[in-house]
Amino acid sequence: MISVNERDRGWLRAAIDLSRLSPPSPTRYAVGAIVVDGHTGTALAAGYTAETEPHHHAEEVALAKLADRHGGDLRRATMYTSMEPCTTRRSGPAPCADLILAAGVGRVVLALREPPVFAACVGIRILRAAGVDVVEIGDLGPRVREINAHVLDRIPERPAATA
Ligand SMILES: [Zn+2]
Repeated sequence: MISVNERDRGWLRAAIDLSRLSPPSPTRYAVGAIVVDGHTGTALAAGYTAETEPHHHAEEVALAKLADRHGGDLRRATMYTSMEPCTTRRSGPAPCADLILAAGVGRVVLALREPPVFAACVGIRILRAAGVDVVEIGDLGPRVREINAHVLDRIPERPAATA
C-alpha cells in the first residue's frame, strides 16, 4: 500500500464518523466524505449521505459545496470517503466516481469497497483507470460495515475483498 500515513487515517476516521449523521435507511448506505486540500492539509468541504436531500450521496454533497465556493484546482486534493465511490445510480445527476473525475480530484482514500447489495460497483477501477491515486485503508472497513448494519445485516456475510 502506497503513501498511507497517520494523517490519512485520521481524515478517513473523521469521514467515517461523519457518516453516522446519515439517517439509516434500508435503501441506501450511510457514507461520509471529506475533501482535504493537499497544500494546506485543511478540509475544504464535507458531506454525508442524505445531508441535503434523501437521494444525495456523501461525495456529491461535498463536491457541490466545493463547486459553490472553491472552483480551484483539485488535483492535489484528497477525497476521503468511508465507502468506494459508486458507479451505478438510480437517482441523482451521475455516479460519484464520475463526479469525482469531473471535479478533477487527484486522490481518493477509502475504507470499504461497496458491497454488492444494490449494484456491482467498479469505482476503484474507474478512478484508477482515469489516473486517480486510490488508496484503501481496509482495516477501517469493519467500522463502516457496522455503521451500515441497516443494509448489510440483511445479506449473508461475505469474506472481505482482497487486492
Ligand atoms: Zn455515490
